[in-house]
Amino acid sequence: MVQPTPPSSDALHRRGLMFIMSSPSGAGKTTISRMLLEADPAIRLSVSATTRPMRPGEVDGKDYHFVTQGRFDEMVENEEFLEWAHVFGNSYGTPKAQVKAGLREGQDFLFDIDWQGTQQLYQKLETDVVRVFLLPPSIDELRRRLTGRGTDSAEVIAARMERARAEISHWDGYDYVVVNDDIDECFAKVREILHAERMKRARQTGLIGFVRELMRP
Ligand code: 5GP
Repeated sequence: MVQPTPPSSDALHRRGLMFIMSSPSGAGKTTISRMLLEADPAIRLSVSATTRPMRPGEVDGKDYHFVTQGRFDEMVENEEFLEWAHVFGNSYGTPKAQVKAGLREGQDFLFDIDWQGTQQLYQKLETDVVRVFLLPPSIDELRRRLTGRGTDSAEVIAARMERARAEISHWDGYDYVVVNDDIDECFAKVREILHAERMKRARQTGLIGFVRELMRP
């Protein structure tokens, strides 16, 4: 008798998932995102469009699609965004095209977006969404991380702290919360979440045929 074999990962046709990471600035989200993208070739960054000016070292089309406010408004008008929001004086949005096609093909996406975008994606695509919130280990550590090189004024630092508090107040809109005390530990936890979410039965519809074979009398 031929033994049933599990389908290869290519044959699974698992729908992709939307892995959202939010945090206040200073919680290490950029570093964790970079580590995840480097370590896991099966997840890709959803590149947002933004009206904020490019920072040194950023690459157009890789970090963000840098657009004018006029172009951004046009994209909103043409319903080109899955979600969009004003964040600290600039506009940010997730272009629809890349993500929708990718999810159908089993591509997982990482979203570095704020709580407003997270809410919108959850409302639209609840079953595809995994929401992770990163927290700093303490308020003192957060202040230290947001103080920069000591060149910023007290007002600038106070404004950053206020923004961080505002973002943290939305932590209850997330499925998972990870405290970033140690970057490697935090990264390991975030990866475990991603791995476990991929194995959720509801996502593994590609195994149905295999399981039926296993159950055949
Ligand atoms: P930054 O300008 O520092 O790269 O990002 C500022 C904030 O905007 C971060 O909290 C980031 O997660 C959020 N953000 C980046 N892209 C998007 C997006 O496409 N949609 C939403 N809603 N927020 C975004």
